[in-house]
Amino acid sequence: MKTTDVLVIGSGIAGATAALRLAQNPKRSIILITRAPILQDSNTYWAQGGIIYRSPDDSARLLVEDILAAGAGASLPQAAQILAEQGPPLLEEVLIREAGIQFDHESNGELSFGQEAAHSRRRIIHVGDGTGAAISQGLTAALGRYPNIEILSNATAVDLITSPHHSRDPLDTYRPIACHGAYVFDRNGESVHRTLAAVTILATGGLGRIYRNTTNPAGARGDGLAMAARAGARIINAEYIQFHPTSLAGPGAEGFLISEAVRGEGAILLTPQGIPFMEKYSPEWKDLAPRAVVARAIHLEMQAPDYSYVLLDIASHMPAEAIQARFPNIYAKCMQVGIDMTREPIPVVPAAHYFCGGVAVDEWGQTGIGHLYAIGEVSCTGLHGANRLASTSLLEGMVWGHRAAEHIENLLTESYPLIPTRAEVPAWDESGLTRESDPAFIQGDMETIQNIMWHYVGLIRSGDRLARAIRELRHLQNEIETFYRRTKLSDGLIGLRNAVEVALIIAQAAYHNRQSRGCHFRADAVEVGDRLL
Ligand SMILES: Cc1cc2nc3c(=O)[nH]c(=O)nc-3n(C[C@H](O)[C@H](O)[C@H](O)COP(=O)(O)OP(=O)(O)OC[C@H]3O[C@@H](n4cnc5c(N)ncnc54)[C@H](O)[C@@H]3O)c2cc1C
Repeated sequence: MKTTDVLVIGSGIAGATAALRLAQNPKRSIILITRAPILQDSNTYWAQGGIIYRSPDDSARLLVEDILAAGAGASLPQAAQILAEQGPPLLEEVLIREAGIQFDHESNGELSFGQEAAHSRRRIIHVGDGTGAAISQGLTAALGRYPNIEILSNATAVDLITSPHHSRDPLDTYRPIACHGAYVFDRNGESVHRTLAAVTILATGGLGRIYRNTTNPAGARGDGLAMAARAGARIINAEYIQFHPTSLAGPGAEGFLISEAVRGEGAILLTPQGIPFMEKYSPEWKDLAPRAVVARAIHLEMQAPDYSYVLLDIASHMPAEAIQARFPNIYAKCMQVGIDMTREPIPVVPAAHYFCGGVAVDEWGQTGIGHLYAIGEVSCTGLHGANRLASTSLLEGMVWGHRAAEHIENLLTESYPLIPTRAEVPAWDESGLTRESDPAFIQGDMETIQNIMWHYVGLIRSGDRLARAIRELRHLQNEIETFYRRTKLSDGLIGLRNAVEVALIIAQAAYHNRQSRGCHFRADAVEVGDRLL
């Protein structure tokens, strides 16, 4: 068992920023855990396009306007204001000065600003098309410089420790729910330990892996969202799943993201017959329309003639050397599967990409559960509303990571929350867990969830599809729960149990919201404004 001031669950940009900021106080002890074998294994690592900064012709006001427009009326203006004002100076402090990330520069020495969909200014800074990898590496190196941060990899949080749920004192029932750390599964030792903390920060990222087609890596299965929901936290905006319009359709490279920045540099979407189609769907923005519009347009173009992909042509719009210099990773990945993007169009399909909803938090990352914060993709600050503006999420993780740390530091200085003793929190109960984890069940059930979500809770939804998804997911959840109660724990089993739980949360939210808005599209939508249904 371990005890610490702050337990941070997740080492992406949000968790790493929070840990770094907290560690500025040398007296503060921080434990940072990740289920992955290495710290970099996260959505953050795979980010390509870049992160928002402020170009000379830009302003906080213009950025707020773009965020609110993309959010389709559901973005919280205060959250957008915080990001737009605090984001750029923090980026400079945390990523450039502290983590030493070398963003790309123009030949005149100025930062190079990229354009992305639905941005009214060029304001995205990047490190080639490997921005996330550079950020992860820089932050990981910075974390290593602080002796008061203990880093545990291969450590999967199973459940939050909360009172009254895990308390032995019956009178705790009458007190508000509070979090005291987490049960953590050591993937090497295959045992569960209690990590007790005055404050816990959930920074576990997204959940794209519950869909058949996704750009997200294997760990993005909604663990934090499921843990928070089980603990009684409020989950909001869960129906808003952003689908990225363009993931590579080449065999062996499924889900690999073809960044929006490629369209930002002039690439055009074409049917397999070579016909451009975006003007039909968005005369104003065309190929740079918001993601939801482009993803649904591709879906519809593929549907009727039953195409298995559409094409993205950058070769006709950018010189070959410039393509290789700006998109070295995408170029290399395409070449690996036999596509030379400097000479021919890239076959692409839409894929689940970003979770706009999450655990409801305030402007400091506080959830409704005492001493529990949530930051980054697992949280919902209200910033993204019904649809995320491209490249805002890395910045949001960093800003709220910083703000949560600031708030926690004040809290711990003013009134340090009581950490329960070892005797007060029951050890993980393994009695009755007699069966070995059967990989056939884990893989088979996971694929079933992914197919249900893709077909019935995907780009185009309806009451019938969603009702069917809910029925099938409920049945599956019963099966998985029975299996979970009898089976020795493994990381895969933890993920499967969480995946079915978050799939149900999303399907139910989508079922109850009969208005199409942003990235939630119902074929049987009621008129926007009809609040009675
Ligand atoms: C391919 C791709 C490209 C993207 N491009 C961009 C971009 O250009 N710009 C942009 O702003 N955004 C981009 N995004 C989105 C952005 O990367 C993410 O929203 C952001 O990185 C999320 O950061 P995070 O810290 O919240 O979560 P993550 O970076 O996903 O980190 C989550 C962490 O939690 C850990 N974890 C999960 N479950 C558990 C558990 N049970 N126990 C312990 N640890 C756990 C994981 O191992 C990981 O360390 C992209 C996303 C993808 C997938």
